[in-house]
Amino acid sequence: VKTPAAAAGATPMMEQYLEIKAANPDSLLFYRMGDFYELFFDDAEVAAQALGIVLTKRGKHQGHDIPMCGVPVHAADDYLQKLIALGFRVAVCEQIEDPAEAKKRGSKSVVRRDVIRLVTPGTITEDKLLAPAEASFLMALGRVKGAADQAWALAWIDISTGAFRVAETSQDRLLADILRVDPRELIVAEPVFYDPDLKPVFDVLGRVANPQPSSLFDSTSAPARIARFFEVATPDSFGTFGRAELSAISGIIAYVEKTQKAERPPLSRPEREESGTTLFIDPATRANLELLRTLSGNREGSLFKAIDRTVTGGGARLLAERLTAPLTDPAAIAARLDSVSFFRTEPRLGEAVRLALKGVADMPRALSRLALNRGGPRDLGALRSGLSAAASIAGLFATAEPSAEIRDALQAIAALPSTLAQHLERALGDELPLIRRDGGFVRAGYDAELDEMRALATESRRVIAGMERDLAEETGIRSLKIRHNNVLGYYIEVTANHQAAMTGTDAAKARFIHRQTMANAMRFTTTELAGLESKIANAAARALSIELAVFEALVKEAVAEAEAIRAGAEALAVLDVSAALALLAEREDWCRPQVDASLAFEIEGGRHPVVEQALRRSGEGPFVANDCDLSPEGDGKNGAIWLLTGPNMGGKSTFLRQNALIAILAQTGSFVPAAKARIGVVDRLFSRVGASDDLARGRSTFMVEMVETAAILNQAGERSLVILDEIGRGTATFDGLSIAWAAVEYLHEQNRCRAIFATHFHEMTALAEKLTRLHNVTMRVKEWEGDVVFLHEVGKGAADRSYGVQVARLAGLPEAVVARAREVLHQLEAGEVSGKAERLIDDLPLFSAAVKREPPKPAPRSDALTETLAGLHPDEMTPREALEAIYRLKGLA
Ligand code: ADP
Repeated sequence: VKTPAAAAGATPMMEQYLEIKAANPDSLLFYRMGDFYELFFDDAEVAAQALGIVLTKRGKHQGHDIPMCGVPVHAADDYLQKLIALGFRVAVCEQIEDPAEAKKRGSKSVVRRDVIRLVTPGTITEDKLLAPAEASFLMALGRVKGAADQAWALAWIDISTGAFRVAETSQDRLLADILRVDPRELIVAEPVFYDPDLKPVFDVLGRVANPQPSSLFDSTSAPARIARFFEVATPDSFGTFGRAELSAISGIIAYVEKTQKAERPPLSRPEREESGTTLFIDPATRANLELLRTLSGNREGSLFKAIDRTVTGGGARLLAERLTAPLTDPAAIAARLDSVSFFRTEPRLGEAVRLALKGVADMPRALSRLALNRGGPRDLGALRSGLSAAASIAGLFATAEPSAEIRDALQAIAALPSTLAQHLERALGDELPLIRRDGGFVRAGYDAELDEMRALATESRRVIAGMERDLAEETGIRSLKIRHNNVLGYYIEVTANHQAAMTGTDAAKARFIHRQTMANAMRFTTTELAGLESKIANAAARALSIELAVFEALVKEAVAEAEAIRAGAEALAVLDVSAALALLAEREDWCRPQVDASLAFEIEGGRHPVVEQALRRSGEGPFVANDCDLSPEGDGKNGAIWLLTGPNMGGKSTFLRQNALIAILAQTGSFVPAAKARIGVVDRLFSRVGASDDLARGRSTFMVEMVETAAILNQAGERSLVILDEIGRGTATFDGLSIAWAAVEYLHEQNRCRAIFATHFHEMTALAEKLTRLHNVTMRVKEWEGDVVFLHEVGKGAADRSYGVQVARLAGLPEAVVARAREVLHQLEAGEVSGKAERLIDDLPLFSAAVKREPPKPAPRSDALTETLAGLHPDEMTPREALEAIYRLKGLA
């Protein structure tokens, strides 16, 4: 049954439901009924399927059964989490009046309900729905069209911590800038979302992108909206923002207001990220280098996982943020490195700080929940423990002389609100309930009236216990009990056989007021008992309302200190990250890199952090350290290109990646896995590594490779670092060689950047004769009894051969095929083919037309096996076809 648009003939409740549903068409509606959230019609069918819960029906609408399913309120978070993870949005609709009020309006009237919150992937705050070590960003894209061009900006917040940033961008780097932040949800004005030029961007983002009415992004009304939200006269006080930036900020705020309804999260003021202050990493490189996640989407195996030694959620989030946005200003990088160096020279202090930090709760997240009226006593408890831990951490630095960054952090920690800390200490008990309505969280001695009410209730309970003894004696019924339940309250209970004693005489009848007869028991009350009961109930109600008032007051005080708390928490995260990186450097034997304004790139004894740790864990170690020097030579103005050859499995990709990772780590402000490193700041990092198929989007491996290569050749400048792995592999040999050839020439002559270019086309090593800044290096191997042994050592020179046959043998190709392949290879090498590449270099001026050559002649000897072999084109085969071919060859042998 489709959700009906019209409510004709609906019950009053259904009428209310349909009206609210119509206002929230793109969300699943959680409609509160008693202890459940119910879903109806289409929503019920979708949710029952998604959550694996029972689909039932409830009543009829226009003659049809209404499909329904429901989730209990107390378990709603778990279901919400599932739905959000599946990409749904949920509108939570609550009863907003006491049912008694509705009754007063008439027996038929329904309790007023309204949507109090839209739960969307980018606006969640619940601990259960958030990963402690991961930020949860909501991002908005702003675009304004001028007469000639258009301006772009991105704004993003983490509603769970209050962070708020904004940056200008442009159409060509839009996707890269979005993917760097990796938001859970990106809101976009509808006309932008449906702009055909941007389709490729939103295709990549998939469900993360969420089109919204353009009114949210209106840049003319933005200043007023921003001023209203932050309760300031004009947003100019935050700095001057461009119109696109204002539009993006406005979009964020409008969406927060739309989803959070009456509640206002404590967002910090938008902070501008100046363009060019961070290392630009294009999306393919970011994905291929597996910075935060591996290509398959796991954190395990990523660079982050290999270097994260932080002990708090805030620390892990800061480290991830830094890793995704390395800096480009040598002074700013040095400032971070100074902090790591400081803890490196004070390991004991670092250990003490880490120990103290371990107990620190996530203050910003607790504060956000409290501000959004979703918090409980434990969130106040989190602030209490955070504030007290911060105070003790500050004390650890008494005698040290820390770096400037750490001094600033300590100042922010010292500025944490101490009166709030004292209030929380005094007001909160040791054991805190999850929900404030459970009460019992305010410490005895904090509020005199509360203590009195609690004493009254305790005293009354004591009196009731005494009364039970007296009544048993008076009536002679030893089994007489005074019990309590939610329906009757306190009552006297006797077994059925004692009925006479309770109702036998007029006096007894007057004294014991009958309440209930059960199968084998009778229940009574007395005026005294009823009196005590109402005393207890009143005292408990009064006590709870006092507790709730205390809670409100503490929340208000905490929210008023939001800025200081956030700054303090950020400072604790800085300490966590610095101490963690120092520990990492010590344990892994990393060195402090020198990052400057030169174009140097000089790594001694560099290692790949992830591969090295993996080799150690699997016991296959040790990792072979390698140097890399792309620095300009003599008084040269540009960095060098290394042309790296060597057999498959020789370690080429590992070497390429490790150098890129070392640059990223250095500019993040971390020590690096090397004996020595000097790096002239890299402004853009490009890579073409790995053969990530994009078949889902209908692009072949070769197409993806060419698109990525094109992006590099079009964009890399002399301050860029480029790593290219096996360009031209996905096509026929001569096409591939020509493309790779031309690409290297172009990098050398036009881009003039620092680069490492790995290739299996040995012919290309001849280029070194012509290109002055190009150097041949190779992965060393040793041959031993016909097998190849990989040394994983990068040395000067060119590989003399590719060892493909040996590698194939290592991979377990049948011995007969290997033997035959050797023969064929021998023939080919002896034939006409060799020697041509050397000539190529003389024949070809730079950037000339495509290389024209005859295909290699088949080996003179001809039999079925050779012919079949000659007819195979490994580069064009799927693994399955390759396997089938091997079987075919084996059959011929
Ligand atoms: P290629 O790109 O040349 O095919 P890889 O870089 O993929 O080779 O390396 C193949 C394997 O060799 C890796 O999985 C790794 O285990 C090992 N390896 C690579 N470099 C090193 C090194 N420097 N020290 C030790 N082992 C290495």
